[in-house]
Amino acid sequence: MAVIYPRMTVVGCGLIGSSVIRAAREAGVVGEVIVADASEAHRQRIVELGYADRVTGDIAEAVTDADLVVFAVPVLAMGDAAKAAADAMKPGATVTDVGSVKGSVAEALSAALPDSVFIVPGHPIAGTEHSGPEAGFAELFRNRWVILTPEGREDAGYLEATGRLSEFWRALGANVETMDAKHHDLVLAVTSHLPHLIAYNIVGTAADMEEVTRAEVMKYSAGGFRDFTRIAASDPTMWRDVFVANKDAVLEILGRFTEDLQALSRAIRWGEADKLHDLFTRTREIRRGIIAAGQETAEPNFGRDHDKQK
Ligand code: NAP
Repeated sequence: MAVIYPRMTVVGCGLIGSSVIRAAREAGVVGEVIVADASEAHRQRIVELGYADRVTGDIAEAVTDADLVVFAVPVLAMGDAAKAAADAMKPGATVTDVGSVKGSVAEALSAALPDSVFIVPGHPIAGTEHSGPEAGFAELFRNRWVILTPEGREDAGYLEATGRLSEFWRALGANVETMDAKHHDLVLAVTSHLPHLIAYNIVGTAADMEEVTRAEVMKYSAGGFRDFTRIAASDPTMWRDVFVANKDAVLEILGRFTEDLQALSRAIRWGEADKLHDLFTRTREIRRGIIAAGQETAEPNFGRDHDKQK
């Protein structure tokens, strides 16, 4: 495939940043790749893995002359990373991010960066519970959605930058959708953020129970609980930032969830078996729909070793 961006800089080369690099290299859509990462240990590992033409801890140095800058740091670190890049950005460059929350990140990027760049925030709906540069793999975005939340500018330069970024993600195997940032945050609150909160909570509850020992929890954890422990092993920094940054949407969805849980609790108390059966039938259909849409949620393994958690 033809090169789309002669020079790409990735700021933050963990799971997502390193997957972007691997996928973009495999697709042949980038020329030079520069990485900026705050972690000395990660920088060393990135050099060993051969991901980049240059690796540095200095964000301004890394973004100089870049045609595409991808911010792939935790959500609350986006603003400071963008500030560090601001004075060195090449006019006309495209800036995107991969943050799991869009409203606050879009605001932070546009507050920090000069008007001469095209900011097109994004979020690949793809990931695993693993972190760090070794966790990345080229197939991560294949047949997954990437949501772009453009600023709503109508000028030709901005539209061209958005179109080119969409083409880039498609070359990495993703399907691209555009959406309003606020709507993105509400959708993701229900599809991703609340499920993680529930997983963190249920694993915490089980761990705190006095009558049931930890050994029993491990020993008798059938599929259900084990799946929750996998989700609850997700990176603490990333998820702390998601809940702080998407407070309003998460609280809105959590309120509705709590009401529905109360209704379920009532149905159990009063022995309303049909109500339970109806809900479980409806949810089974939703699961079948997800599989039919090719968005099965099980972690793709692709034969790699994903055991190297941070
Ligand atoms: P990750 O594996 O922890 O990687 C983040 C990398 O950025 C780490 O190397 C980290 O170093 C570095 N870093 C942190 N602050 C920095 C800064 N100010 N400047 C430069 N480097 C910095 O995280 P990830 O899972 O790839 O997540 C990155 C972004 O993708 C997050 O915004 C997240 O919301 C989003 N996302 C994640 C997933 C997922 O499933 N993981 C899916 C979609 C989107 P240290 O480890 O030393 O802090």
